[in-house]
Amino acid sequence: MSDFFCPSRAAGSSQSTRQTVLTIYMITARHIAEIRSFTRHAHLKQENVGLVPTMGALHEGHIRLIRLMRQHADQVVVSIFVNPTQFGPGEDFEAYPRQLQEDLDKCREAGADAVFCPKREAVYAGTHFIRLHLETLGNRLCGARRPGHFDGVIQVVNKLFNMVQPDTAIFGQKDIQQYRILEQMVFEFNHDVSLVMAPTVRAADGLALSSRNAYLTPEERALAPALYGSLRKLEHELRTRLLSKEADAQAAINGLLEQAGAELDDSGFRTDYIELVDYERLQPVTTALEPGRRYVLAGAAYLGKARLIDNILMEAE
Ligand code: AMP
Repeated sequence: MSDFFCPSRAAGSSQSTRQTVLTIYMITARHIAEIRSFTRHAHLKQENVGLVPTMGALHEGHIRLIRLMRQHADQVVVSIFVNPTQFGPGEDFEAYPRQLQEDLDKCREAGADAVFCPKREAVYAGTHFIRLHLETLGNRLCGARRPGHFDGVIQVVNKLFNMVQPDTAIFGQKDIQQYRILEQMVFEFNHDVSLVMAPTVRAADGLALSSRNAYLTPEERALAPALYGSLRKLEHELRTRLLSKEADAQAAINGLLEQAGAELDDSGFRTDYIELVDYERLQPVTTALEPGRRYVLAGAAYLGKARLIDNILMEAE
């Protein structure tokens, strides 16, 4: 295990001084013992630790998560690990962009205190006799289309929480089903970790930033913002037409969702799903929208090789 200097937060230091300190002392931890030691040092100093789990190929969305975590934690740890167990057969595990050196530079620039980038053998050492399996929250949206995906997500995030032992962890709203599932995992497994949901970071034209956008051709990239455009139009229609009064709400909602999917297909997408679910259970809405409840309007669609996802979290008025 390599030795390291644990940076302390210089009280009253200017942002630029702090940046300088961080630039010098960002830790790169390859081993579990190293990152545990980092957290232990922080806790000994009464500092809390925030974790930003990622699969690397960092973009501005990840950077915002790192910066936002700064507001919640004294020490910010970014994990970079392309988790094999959340990729299904035929998915893009092998092709997933990997650029560790560039990512480390970005983390340093964003002000991370440590990066945990374990090898696959460190995370999945030995034989695995235990599998976690998700029930209700995983049977709609991406969970229905990517069997086993969220089982792999809860497996690796459980592991990351035990390896890093953070006080706080941040995840993006872009993957809202993942967030809801992890929220439930924290509750059911009694993890002592508070979660923060970060707003989706978008390009100027509305496309949600994603490492997988790298798969888009220039023509596909030009078309890609239409997925979010379609969700926004749907939200407007749901709000104007389907307030809590509409008698046959489910039929009306289904009609709108189908129409949105068909329009996306006509414009060149291959729609995977467009769904409206309640936030708590992630199940389709079968009654009129209830004021004060939260709903998720979510979509996934293929453009060439890329599978884009997006969502809007709505509260009915
Ligand atoms: P990934 O590397 O794709 O696994 O993403 C790591 C974290 O970044 C997850 O919590 C994602 O939800 C979050 N994330 C990815 N893209 C965005 C984005 N455009 N806006 C906000 N968060 C994002």
